[in-house]
Formats: sequence, C-alpha cells, structure tokens
Amino acid sequence: MRINCLACGHKVELDDAYDDFEGLVKCLCGTMLEIRTEEGKLKAIKMVEPLARAAAKPKGMQRPATP
Ligand SMILES: [Zn+2]
Repeated sequence: MRINCLACGHKVELDDAYDDFEGLVKCLCGTMLEIRTEEGKLKAIKMVEPLARAAAKPKGMQRPATP
C-alpha cells in the first residue's frame, strides 16, 4: 500500500504490516503523517507538526548582557 505525503507528495511505501494500522509514519522529507488504515485501505491521514523542530529556532531570543 502507498500513501501520499501531504507535505511533499512522495508516495510512502508501506508493507502488509500496515494494513490495519493506526499511528505515525515518517516520510523521506521528515514529515510525520498520522494515518489510520483498515483492511489495506487508508481511512484517515493528517500531517503532524514536528514539535521538536519547530521549537529548535526561537525567534527574537534575547540574551541578558553579560558584564
Ligand atoms: Zn514528504
């Protein structure tokens, strides 16, 4: 079974173990996709924001001046 990545359009290949699956799949581009499958068919898919990456670069961070 293949699912289309919502971010880059890449077709992520999934083996038979994912025919009845609910959880996260990672695409080549690093996007986490939360999917739900039943009997080899995709029932639901949504993109999950990578929280760790989003928090990696805080904008406008101010450091206290060191004497
Ligand atoms: Zn992707």
